[in-house]
Formats: sequence, C-alpha cells, structure tokens
Amino acid sequence: MAFERDGGFRPRGGGFGGPREMHDATCSDCGQQTKVPFKPVEGRPVYCRDCYMKKKSQN
Ligand SMILES: [Zn+2]
Repeated sequence: MAFERDGGFRPRGGGFGGPREMHDATCSDCGQQTKVPFKPVEGRPVYCRDCYMKKKSQN
C-alpha cells in the first residue's frame, strides 16, 4: 500500500501585493503635476509619463 501525499497545496493569500505608493511630483520638463511610483529625490529631475517616454525614445 502506498500513501499518496497531498503535499504542495498552499492556500493563497497574505499581506503582499498592496497598492503601490505614489508620490506627487512636478515634471521638470513641462511643469505638469504628476505622480511617480518612487520618492522624488531633491535635485534630480522628475518627469511625467509623457516626458519620460519622450526622453526614453530620444536615446
Ligand atoms: Zn512632462
């Protein structure tokens, strides 16, 4: 007789996957109010989504 173990079953759920924290920032390029998923660093330019994409595609 062989026992078959029903291992590997784990109930899902937990404290992970919370909402991403967004920070208010002003775009250094167009001056528009925007939100960024990281904390803006003083002295470093922050770009809104549009300008970020523009800069990215320019390279
Ligand atoms: Zn912008």
